[in-house]
Amino acid sequence: MRKRFALVDDDPNVLGMLKTVFELEGHEVTTYSSSLAALEGVTQNPPDCLLTDIMMPELDGTELTRRLRQIPALKDLCIVVVSGKVYATDKQRALDAGANGFIPKNRTNPESIVAEVLALFSDTMSIGFWGTRGTMPMSGPQTLRYGGNTACVSLTFPDGHLFAFDAGTGIYALAGHLMKLGKKLTGTVLLSHPHWDHINFLPFFTPLFVPGNQFEIVGADQDGVSLEQLVANQMDGMHFPITPREWGARVSYRSISEGVHEIGPAQVHTMLLCHPGNCLGYRVEFAGRKIAYVTDNELFPEDSDMHSPTYVKRLTEFVGDCDILITDTSYTDEEYPKRIGWGHSALSRVVKLAKEGGVKQLYLFHHVPEHTDDDIDKMLNQALALASGSNLVCKAAEALETVSLSSV
Ligand SMILES: [Zn+2]
Ligand SMILES: [Zn+2]
Repeated sequence: MRKRFALVDDDPNVLGMLKTVFELEGHEVTTYSSSLAALEGVTQNPPDCLLTDIMMPELDGTELTRRLRQIPALKDLCIVVVSGKVYATDKQRALDAGANGFIPKNRTNPESIVAEVLALFSDTMSIGFWGTRGTMPMSGPQTLRYGGNTACVSLTFPDGHLFAFDAGTGIYALAGHLMKLGKKLTGTVLLSHPHWDHINFLPFFTPLFVPGNQFEIVGADQDGVSLEQLVANQMDGMHFPITPREWGARVSYRSISEGVHEIGPAQVHTMLLCHPGNCLGYRVEFAGRKIAYVTDNELFPEDSDMHSPTYVKRLTEFVGDCDILITDTSYTDEEYPKRIGWGHSALSRVVKLAKEGGVKQLYLFHHVPEHTDDDIDKMLNQALALASGSNLVCKAAEALETVSLSSV
């Protein structure tokens, strides 16, 4: 698709070369040889994407990025810093200022810069379903299609940044996939809550042991126990022989609660869910896309004393207009009455939430151990029937399935 680019560089040769390559690809290009001119021009005539050099007189590219990010009308502008400076601190400064990407220009040619920019700018996030089961892993012929591993879903951004939601047994399969890629990794593990089925395979997440990788672990503290301590408790040398001190990757922690957070290349909204302890639901917003990972969560029936219209309204808004909602559909409506107060939802309540929120695709998730593939097929058919007449698409991810956001 034809896009409008603004190029900012005080070197006329670089500017001319990049302009030619973008135009050959069929894009519209405006060039600026000064960052102050770019600030004014882009504000008046916003492009889809701005590429800026770092080292320029007047404003440098990082400062230009920071100033553009303060203009609300330009919130969807994709900003890419292309620079001869290759130090990690320069990249971090650019990303901290609000750049969507950073491309070193002296290790690559103009054609590959354009290819990298288009990849960054494109909406090519992919979601991987590595574990969709709740409570405990369940192996055997009855769970081959939808999988028996507990919760782990990955989201990969165009710049390669990885999000791993939860660290159930599924994270071991994700680790195998990542190790085969053989690349240095930058990523975030986003924990919903510290029940076993969501954290107990973090010690087996091999990329944490690889020097050069960088990970942030994000989640909520619990009753005075910090997130870092929660992770360390299961790797105390007794429950697992290796402690976090032996991780080779650079690992940091961020304790969060409800709010809006800048994590990796995305804006992440969080909401505390209806489940024992502090359990966070996540909504990731990136490049105009919204993906929500909301588990574990109980939606009480409307005639129950426990039903809170305020909570349901907030959650409906939280998942509102999401491209994809991955959420707890543990029980059938028939099973649920025997499981009230267990912290998980029945199918019809979830479909109603997704319909009312205007969700585009609902993924049934956190399948209970006793549900076979055939049972999940039946639940999916029930969900499809409940959603008929609306625009909601209902799915259940197959084991290890990957979904590209560009196809949604
Ligand atoms: Zn769970
Ligand atoms: Zn739980």
